[in-house]
Amino acid sequence: MKNARAMIEQLRKGGKPVVGCFPLYPPLELMHSMGLLPVVLWGLRDSVSDTRDADRHVQPYACSVARQLAQFVIADGPGLLDGLFFYNACDTLRNLPELLREGIAGSRRITPPMFRVHVPMKEDGASGYLANEIANLIKALQASYGVSFSEERFARSVSLYERARRLCRRLEDAVAEGVLTFAGFSAALASANFLAVEDQIALLESTLSDCEGSITQPSATRVIASGILPPPPVICDLIELAGLRVAGNDIASMHRSYAFSPEAWGNVRDYYVAFYRDHFPCTTLLHTADRRVDAVVDIVSSRHADAFVFVGEKFCEYEYFELPYLEQQLKKSGVPVLSIEVSIDDDGSAETFRTRIDAFAELLSGREGRHDA
Ligand code: SF4
Repeated sequence: MKNARAMIEQLRKGGKPVVGCFPLYPPLELMHSMGLLPVVLWGLRDSVSDTRDADRHVQPYACSVARQLAQFVIADGPGLLDGLFFYNACDTLRNLPELLREGIAGSRRITPPMFRVHVPMKEDGASGYLANEIANLIKALQASYGVSFSEERFARSVSLYERARRLCRRLEDAVAEGVLTFAGFSAALASANFLAVEDQIALLESTLSDCEGSITQPSATRVIASGILPPPPVICDLIELAGLRVAGNDIASMHRSYAFSPEAWGNVRDYYVAFYRDHFPCTTLLHTADRRVDAVVDIVSSRHADAFVFVGEKFCEYEYFELPYLEQQLKKSGVPVLSIEVSIDDDGSAETFRTRIDAFAELLSGREGRHDA
C-alpha cells in the first residue's frame, strides 16, 4: 500500500476538493454528495517520520492517533488538504483544531478552511440541535467551495457508502472463515480510506473476489480483536502465526465504523440524527456506553470466539476507562482477555509482543470447549 500522503496526492488529481476529517465517524456521505472527497485522518504512521512539529503543540502523553494527525496536518495540510472537518469525538481531538491553526500559522502558511460540528452525547440524540448543526455544515460547505446540496444526490451517496460497509462486513466474514488474513483485510481497509467511495467499492469487491475459491486455512482458535485502530501488521502476523484467527472485531476504524447505517430516514438531518444516535456502540460516543458491553459480548458469542484480544492505543483514556469493566464482564462469561498496548514509540519489532501472544495462544489451546473453525 502507498502511504496516506501518496494516496491523497493521487486523489487530488481528480480535481475535487479533498477534506481531511478528524476521526472517528465524520459525515462522509454528506461531503461526498456535495462533490467533495472526504478522507478520515487515521492510519498516518507511514506518512510521518517523526512528530517534531506536533510536539511543539501537543503533549507527549497524547495518543499516537492525535500526534501523528497533528504532525501530518501541520506539515502537509496546507499543500495537501482543501479543508478540515472535526467534531467532538474525544477530549484529545476536540482541542486539536486551535492548536493546529497555531502550528500552521507559525510556519506562515494558510490553514485550510475548518468545519466543526458538535454531536450531542445524549441518548435521545438531541435531534433538533444536531439537525441544526448539519444544516449549518451544509451552508458552510456551500459557501467555501461553491458546491450545492440535493437530497437526491445525498441518497445516492448514502447507498454507495452502505454498499462499501456491506462489503467490509463480507470481508470480515472472509477473515472469520480463514480465506483472508486479518493483516490483508486491515491493509485493504487502510487503502480504501484514502479513495473515493466508488473506488473503495471496486477495491473491496476485488479483494473479496480474490478470496473466493481460496483454500480455508487450517483450524484455528477464534478471537475477537478490539481497539481504536487495527493492530500494526507485525502484531496481526504474530496473532495469526500463533494459531489464532480473528473471527470478528470491535475495532473503531473497522467494525464500529461499518457495522451500521440508518435504514429509515426522511432527509439528511434525520439521517445523521439516527447515524449518531443508533451507531454501533463506541467508547467515544458516550450515549452508547450502556450498550457497549452487550454489543461486544454479542460479537464474541455470534462469532463463536474463544477469546478477546484488546490492542490499546497508549494514552487513549476512552478505551482504558472502559477496559477494566469490559474485561471483568468477559471473564465472568468465561472469555479470556489478552490486553496489549501499542505506542508511538514502538519500533515495529515483533519481539516485544511475541511472548505474550504465544503464551496466550498456548493457554487457549489447552482449554476445553474452544471453537475450532
Ligand atoms: S485513540 Fe483515543 S484519545 Fe486518541 S484520538 Fe482516538 S479516541 Fe481520541
